[in-house]
Amino acid sequence: MDANIPVSAHPRVVIVGCGFGGLRLAKELRDAPVQVVMIDRNNYHKFQPLLYQVATGALEADSIAYPIRKIFAGQTNFFYRMADVQCVDSKRNVIVTTVGEIHYDHLVLATGSLTNFFGNETIEKHSMQIKSIPNALNLRSFIFQNFEKALLTTNPEEYQALMNIVVVGGGATGVEISGSLAEMRRHVLPKDYPELDLGQMQIFLVESGGALLKPMSKKSQDDSRRYLEDLGVKVRLNTRVLRYENSRVYYSDTEYIPTDNLIWAAGVNGAEVPGLPPEAITRNKRINVNRWNRVDGFENIYAIGDVANMITDDMPQGLPMLAPVAQQQGTHLGKNFKRILKNQPPLDFKYFNKGVMAIVSRNKAVVDLPKDVHFNGIFGWFTWLFVHLMTLVGFRNKVVAFADWAIGYFSSDQALRLIIRPFNRLDMKDDKGKKAAERQNATPEYIPTPPAIQTPVTS
Ligand SMILES: Cc1cc2nc3c(=O)[nH]c(=O)nc-3n(C[C@H](O)[C@H](O)[C@H](O)COP(=O)(O)OP(=O)(O)OC[C@H]3O[C@@H](n4cnc5c(N)ncnc54)[C@H](O)[C@@H]3O)c2cc1C
Repeated sequence: MDANIPVSAHPRVVIVGCGFGGLRLAKELRDAPVQVVMIDRNNYHKFQPLLYQVATGALEADSIAYPIRKIFAGQTNFFYRMADVQCVDSKRNVIVTTVGEIHYDHLVLATGSLTNFFGNETIEKHSMQIKSIPNALNLRSFIFQNFEKALLTTNPEEYQALMNIVVVGGGATGVEISGSLAEMRRHVLPKDYPELDLGQMQIFLVESGGALLKPMSKKSQDDSRRYLEDLGVKVRLNTRVLRYENSRVYYSDTEYIPTDNLIWAAGVNGAEVPGLPPEAITRNKRINVNRWNRVDGFENIYAIGDVANMITDDMPQGLPMLAPVAQQQGTHLGKNFKRILKNQPPLDFKYFNKGVMAIVSRNKAVVDLPKDVHFNGIFGWFTWLFVHLMTLVGFRNKVVAFADWAIGYFSSDQALRLIIRPFNRLDMKDDKGKKAAERQNATPEYIPTPPAIQTPVTS
């Protein structure tokens, strides 16, 4: 039992997840009379807002992650175990993990979120998501692999599918990755792939709602759309993806976009841990907490960050799933633990919104600050760069990211385009390939009738 964690005279606070929230909480507790036990399935903290830059070759994976043990080196009340938490047994005050059961006096769930595929198994199986570093590296390799395959095919429909990229979800991730891919098409691909007809490569950003960047101001929504369209991204609003079959993304029974590169950024659910009663869990799998981040119905279980659903007067739908919310809740809960240990009553959490921003491309970003302050363009872009650089964990990461960005800016090049996943020529879907045969023999429900109207490719 207890994964060889030393016995302590102090109460044990077990934190599951060293993301933005868990990290801040553990740091806040560095001088508190508690034993801090951190459990994470990865031995590093990752900076999710920059994952898309890894996926598009602008940043190295190592520059957006930092080893947990290094972050907490010297914090004597801190213990880390690398493990996957499988469930909570609240009756016995233990969590069940892949390295055994671990006892807690106080448990904090800071497990973040998971991609929401809205129950569509085909999309879940065949699309690419950007939630982890392996996802981002895989996405980068996969897209370049498809360009290599495009050079080998003689089948026009297959060529189009290999070249097209469809991004679903018009939130910050969808906007940022679409802009970055469009820049890659403009600056990198003509040099690397002079044999490819890039005029045929189309990047679609598909959003089911009526605007991009829904939580931002109308001005930012319009500016970001204009920036993307200037880069040649085809923005399709009010368009819901229905299914993905035979290299076609269908958005009605008869209309589709041919693509082998489907990127799913259409939403997230809380990454709940099994074992809590159903009434504590919301429809999108977040855990209901009070204003002290305490889980409804429990005295010693807390949740912070994306996985926590905290309702406030000004946010009746729950606080947004954003890094600053997780960070502020982590710090606040740490302070409340210290108060509880001194028999003082905990204080309510108040979210301080410092603003929201999104980058579209070089010199183009949108920033909304409180009190309706909005700016964009190159000033917004510098603001975005500065804030992200300052928030990265670790001096080395800041320096490497700055160097990668500076080189990319002055050379209009993204240096990182190695394909580091297996490439199998037999996976090709040309006339001789198995998948082309599958497409021709598609089951009737996927053969559109009357014949499919392909999205205009030159509009
Ligand atoms: C691509 C992308 C772009 C984003 N861009 C922005 C942005 O520009 N601005 C912004 O504010 N927010 C952005 N976000 C959201 C932001 O990253 C999250 O709000 C933030 O990471 C939430 O922090 P957290 O501590 O709740 O969880 P996370 O940071 O997700 O950390 C959760 C941790 O828990 C661990 N974990 C999960 N389940 C288990 C388990 N069962 N066992 C063990 N370990 C587990 C994970 O390994 C991870 O380390 C973005 C997110 C993504 C995916």
